[in-house]
Amino acid sequence: MIFDSYEAYKQASFKPKVCILGSGPAGTTIARKLGAAGIPVVVLEAGSREFSDQSQDFYRGATVGDYYFDLDITRLRFMGGSSNHWAGWCRVLDRQDFEPKAWAPDTGWPISRADIEPYLGDVHDILELPDFRPDVPISDDIRWVQLIKSPAVRFGEKFAGELDRSKTIAVVLNTYATELAGDGRRVTGARLWSNGQDAGTFTADYFITCTGGLENSRLLLWSNRRSNGGVVPNAAALGRYWMEHPTFEGGNAILANYDEFEVDASNEAFFSPTLAAMERLQILNFGIRLIESPYPNVKRLIADLACTAPDMAEWMSSKLDQRLRCAAQLYVAWEQAPLASTRSSCRRPMSTMPACRASSCTGRSRRSSAVRCSKA
Ligand SMILES: Cc1cc2nc3c(=O)[nH]c(=O)nc-3n(C[C@H](O)[C@H](O)[C@H](O)COP(=O)(O)OP(=O)(O)OC[C@H]3O[C@@H](n4cnc5c(N)ncnc54)[C@H](O)[C@@H]3O)c2cc1C
Repeated sequence: MIFDSYEAYKQASFKPKVCILGSGPAGTTIARKLGAAGIPVVVLEAGSREFSDQSQDFYRGATVGDYYFDLDITRLRFMGGSSNHWAGWCRVLDRQDFEPKAWAPDTGWPISRADIEPYLGDVHDILELPDFRPDVPISDDIRWVQLIKSPAVRFGEKFAGELDRSKTIAVVLNTYATELAGDGRRVTGARLWSNGQDAGTFTADYFITCTGGLENSRLLLWSNRRSNGGVVPNAAALGRYWMEHPTFEGGNAILANYDEFEVDASNEAFFSPTLAAMERLQILNFGIRLIESPYPNVKRLIADLACTAPDMAEWMSSKLDQRLRCAAQLYVAWEQAPLASTRSSCRRPMSTMPACRASSCTGRSRRSSAVRCSKA
């Protein structure tokens, strides 16, 4: 069932056990799983079926400090969430991504790769993925990895029909939580706002926040402040360790050997370090994206190189007669070191007005940055 307003939903007398906030990939996936198990679940979605400036405006904010994308550009506030514009690139996390690393404080997750493996079949169905091939070692330090460019499933479009037909899942659009209440043991209710007005308190046995990385933190931090720690009692990490995947243009390469890897349909190939290299160099994981450039670029690169490293340029030229065919651009996306000081925090309420309108969001240095939204 999909309801366009909270008013319409109330008339249906649906009795949910679980309330999920947000209908992006996380919220929709959990709702479908619970619904299939016969557990009645309501999904409260802030936006409507389609994009609207009015809803998107709530995501507005300004970032200062290190460059970061506008907060109302990176995220989408309507049914299906940011899957409405995600690129669809997929890769299974490496085993070492979950494990603590002695050389990098605060690394390690409370779950392991083995914990997610049972769900990979579901993921393939949801995201319409072919099977992944195993990584291929290129050297002791580097492996050729596979990154699948999937059809970029839009969760709202793909699952709207199924959700509408469901008897166990109710999706309520244009309705959002401004605050959760809790007594230190459990969440007791959510304060709702719908179609421009206060919609009272919603109760359910369980609440699951799926409002996206930044909004989850903002909602929980604000709720915790209002309930004196009653929503997340152990909140030391709440809103901290904010992370992205910083991407840098690493440089250019001239490819001398084609035997060890293949490029995909977009003339790209991806590489990551081996665990041994990460341990030896005391670095975190990264992905190198190699994009082949046409042959004339090889000559230009060698000409550029001749100015700064003539011997190497000469060696490169001598290779031109051999199997050397292409130049490539290299981009590197790096795993960010977890830093407690890198945080998102909201100093004022998730208001009934667009949340970050007229707000100031500050970002500090790369090693200690913050995204902070506060009503001016
Ligand atoms: C341009 C771009 C490209 C990307 N490409 C990739 C990629 O190639 N591969 C990849 O793995 N990831 C990619 N991502 C990241 C991916 O889109 C996100 O990780 C994913 O959408 C997060 O899903 P989510 O359900 O946690 O949150 P979201 O998708 O953000 O969904 C949150 C939902 O909650 C709703 N909501 C917000 N606040 C409230 C509230 N208070 N009450 C009720 N509802 C609320 C929103 O309207 C939204 O529908 C990309 C992201 C962007 C922006």
